[in-house]
Amino acid sequence: MSIAGAQTVVMKFGGTSVADAERIKNAARRIVQRAEEGGRVVAVLSARGKHTDELIAAAHEVSPRPHPREMDMLLSTGERVSCALAAMAINDLGHEAISLTGSQAGIVTDTSHTKARILEVKAHRVHAALDEGRIVLVAGFQGVSHDSLDVTTLGRGGSDTTAVALAGALGAEVCEIFTDVAGVFSADPRLVPTARKLPVVTFEEMLEMSASGAGVLQLRSVEYARNYGITIHCRSSFDDGPGTVVQDEEQTMERPLVTAVTHSTSEARITLTGLPDRPGVAGRVLSALAEAGVNVDMIIQNEPLSEGHLADMSVTVPRDDLVVAGEALSAIKGELGFGEVLSDDRMGKVSLVGAGMKSHPGVAATALTVLGEAGVNIEMISTSPIKISCVVREKDVETAVRQLHTAFDLGREAVLPEDVAGVHRPKVREEAAS
Ligand code: ADP
Ligand code: ASP
Ligand code: MG
Repeated sequence: MSIAGAQTVVMKFGGTSVADAERIKNAARRIVQRAEEGGRVVAVLSARGKHTDELIAAAHEVSPRPHPREMDMLLSTGERVSCALAAMAINDLGHEAISLTGSQAGIVTDTSHTKARILEVKAHRVHAALDEGRIVLVAGFQGVSHDSLDVTTLGRGGSDTTAVALAGALGAEVCEIFTDVAGVFSADPRLVPTARKLPVVTFEEMLEMSASGAGVLQLRSVEYARNYGITIHCRSSFDDGPGTVVQDEEQTMERPLVTAVTHSTSEARITLTGLPDRPGVAGRVLSALAEAGVNVDMIIQNEPLSEGHLADMSVTVPRDDLVVAGEALSAIKGELGFGEVLSDDRMGKVSLVGAGMKSHPGVAATALTVLGEAGVNIEMISTSPIKISCVVREKDVETAVRQLHTAFDLGREAVLPEDVAGVHRPKVREEAAS
């Protein structure tokens, strides 16, 4: 029985951490241990292993463009399976557990199926179960639409956001994200074996990292944590070592120049040729993409200096949105009177992130020189005060990440040995969730 007024703890376990019976029992033991230490424990679970990928594949076997509402009905089942199984395992350990769907847990969202946003958390049912001394398991990655009352899902990696949103609603100070690596690293440890675990990352760095491909924390979970002042502790589900604390800048020491190299291999580029050079054209192009629900990342357009004053405009979009984006742009071709819609779906992106960059010029020059010397052609560049991103060919991403990681000396050698002692390196590459 948990103590009334005791600290509420939110623990989230990712797909690899609940992939089979042994791992579910292992997660159950960790959850129970926390309850026995006196916490009111809420655990958010992801679908097991590659279950979500399998469900997506099953949908595409029966339909080339699955209906988004039905897609969410399907995808939300994965997390439900994990929670019910974990509740059974916890009950067998002598504790009372109850599993809840996202809807039952009060996760209220908008209606954008497959990428819904959480609007509100009505946590009274979770509170009531905790008050009765139960451990509460909440199916991650899902909610219920406030107007249609249909089941929604929160986008890939969305269980992180469920956990942080619950931590906010329940007044937990820390949200613990248990995953298959020991924390947030200076690069994806699957790509760069010498990457080092970062003890602390600021919200603003983590936002840039998640937005540029570090899938270890879903971008929205970091936005939510920053907005509600919730510290995230991202750590290994396989050992007890400390992970990475993501928190406010004021709480952290001076930041290094460059903290991490991130990458993405799921980009596509669309180029519109022969665009008329008049006010409103770029706005119309971007509105067409926004109305189609496509998230544009980089945008490049130059003032046309050549004869005829026609411009080319390139944007990058997630590869999965390429078909929808292409259709939306072809539909306004006649209206705007441009030339062609060209696309390339084999693009990738590599980014350098570091809060210390703000006050130090020259990082971009070094990064671009390093990539040039490695024979990597840079196709687009964008910057923010704490990030430099380069769009490159997908096949060049690995080389680019490794070269930048070495050039900026981000590796393990840079830290004290005890800092990396607890690093868990996943043995099976296939275990990487997509
Ligand atoms: P979970 O199923 O626990 O949510 P994810 O697969 O979503 O796990 O996220 C963990 C994975 O994120 C790691 O296995 C790792 O390959 C990848 N990753 C990418 N970039 C980073 C990074 N900078 N630090 C740590 N992990 C990273
Ligand atoms: N199961 C979902 C996914 O694979 C959500 C998550 O794991 O966070 O994306
Ligand atoms: Mg994840």
